Amino acid sequence: MRGNSVAEGWKFSSDRKAAVSLTQEYIYDFSQGPRGVNVILLGAGGVATIGRYDGVPEFWQCWAPLPRTRKDHVCGVCGAVSALKCGCEAKK
Ligand SMILES: [Zn+2]
Repeated sequence: MRGNSVAEGWKFSSDRKAAVSLTQEYIYDFSQGPRGVNVILLGAGGVATIGRYDGVPEFWQCWAPLPRTRKDHVCGVCGAVSALKCGCEAKK
């Protein structure tokens, strides 16, 4: 396990099949949730996916908003969401 996972806000799930947030929890009330936009959905079998809630709560158990990108990591040259990966700094 990487040593800084807790500092980054996550840990492995108990079965070690997923990385889970230490700060964000699923929302179980779909009634006020967004429609027609991508969210994280947890299915009846315990598998999470990214998709749009279709208003049929029998299969989807709960949902969570997607994490947001960090503005301090956006490349000021090309606008890529990760300046660490676009290569602009290496070209200077
Ligand atoms: Zn760039």
